[in-house]
Amino acid sequence: MKILALGAHPDDIEIGCGATISKMVRTKEAEVTARVFTQCRDAVPKGWAEDTLLKEFAMAMQVLGVSDASAYDYSNKALYVDRQAILDILYGMQGEFDVVFCPSGFNSNQDHLTVHEEAKRAFRGTAVLGYTSPASDYGFARAAIYSTFMPYDLEIKVKALRCYKSQFELKRQYFGDEYTRSLAAVTGVECWHPLAEKFEPIRYVIR
Ligand SMILES: [Zn+2]
Repeated sequence: MKILALGAHPDDIEIGCGATISKMVRTKEAEVTARVFTQCRDAVPKGWAEDTLLKEFAMAMQVLGVSDASAYDYSNKALYVDRQAILDILYGMQGEFDVVFCPSGFNSNQDHLTVHEEAKRAFRGTAVLGYTSPASDYGFARAAIYSTFMPYDLEIKVKALRCYKSQFELKRQYFGDEYTRSLAAVTGVECWHPLAEKFEPIRYVIR
């Protein structure tokens, strides 16, 4: 199976579905391609290099086992300005993937919603699943497709998130190891498995 994981920002994919990706790559269940649309040059601690998040993204993807990962350089917080360019990029990838992961529509962040909308628009014949972005979710509790995994994959997710030293420096609450492990346990309770992530079913095609 071929999966395309899309994010607005460099850390979106790891936060939303890092353990699922780890599991799928580790078990060779899927080949994963990752694309994000902004490098968040303005979201680094004062005095840190502008390409910090780009480098952290590359390291985190390596930890998850994703070899095909890259970041476009559109403006953070203003992806809607370039939404047609983003859609054209996605149109160029039509037919290449079996499943697309993207930010959920149960969200309030403008960049997440832009990627969500353009993915929904571009991949009309493909399964599209929306992952959580906890700091800006609004109603994600209704998402109902569960992905279970082993403690190993959770620890790979924790390790991938630790690559984002800039975001720890900025004290992003949703980056803490304890939060990541707790969310997996809470989501697991919902589907009667020790650990899980979950997805919004945006489109599922039965053939
Ligand atoms: Zn984000």
